[in-house]
Amino acid sequence: MTYALGLDIGGSTARAAVVERETGRVVESRKYAWLERSPQAVVDGTAELIRSLPATDGVVGVGFAGMLDGSVVVNAPNLGWRDVDFGGALSRALNGRPVQLINDLSAAAWGEYVAGAAKGVRDSLTVFAGTGVGSAIIAGGVLQTGASQVAGEFGHVKLFPEGGRRCGCGQDGCLEAYAGGAKLAEWMKEEGLEGGAGELEALAAQGNAVAQKLYEFVATQLALAIANQVTVLNPAVLVLGGGVLLRSPGLVARIREVVARRSTVSSAKAVRVTMAQLGDDSGLVGAALLG
Ligand SMILES: [Zn+2]
Repeated sequence: MTYALGLDIGGSTARAAVVERETGRVVESRKYAWLERSPQAVVDGTAELIRSLPATDGVVGVGFAGMLDGSVVVNAPNLGWRDVDFGGALSRALNGRPVQLINDLSAAAWGEYVAGAAKGVRDSLTVFAGTGVGSAIIAGGVLQTGASQVAGEFGHVKLFPEGGRRCGCGQDGCLEAYAGGAKLAEWMKEEGLEGGAGELEALAAQGNAVAQKLYEFVATQLALAIANQVTVLNPAVLVLGGGVLLRSPGLVARIREVVARRSTVSSAKAVRVTMAQLGDDSGLVGAALLG
């Protein structure tokens, strides 16, 4: 067996794991939560985390929640970073060991493709709704990154021709500005509701009219956007995950129903809809194996 090192950098924590290259099995993993989210603090903490794991060599694959360009984090709304050379800084902190940044959703999709819910298929669409909303596309067994590494930024498709709620990306009216966990909680607070996606679903089910209005909007828009993606991409598997969907079984049921009814007939027939199987580990496994 040979071993690879993978990282998953989120909005408030970093996880690192040693992964078996041949199987995608996580051999050992560790987590670190930062108090200060400055790039230097996160670089230092992440390097320390890596040093606490058994030694590996080769490229460090880093799944990162943000828009990337090579080693540079162009925009990471959850961290408040813009144009930060995180890959370069982490490589220097690791005495020049090569570091490859990978979009977190791409990493998760690859993990599920190698060892999880999409194992054995060639065409998958992975959609996660957590703090943010994103997707990743594997077509013909190849992860699609796009011309500038931002293919699959599904959370930033627009819901209106103009305007809409402000998104963390700086634009208005993105799907994520409504269905992303962080923005959804903000929206709920403005409307006098407590909590997040799970609470919203419960309140709507109890008949709270304001909750029903928000919930219907999120469910309708998210499910329709996914169904349209299924029409365009014709995947064999649609893998769903992320905290918002894990806490809202009604949203998952709505997505299944709308994909079946509103995707093209042949795409709807071809797609199997399933939840991610590796849980929190999918991004770690994918980052390790893509690195
Ligand atoms: Zn956006």
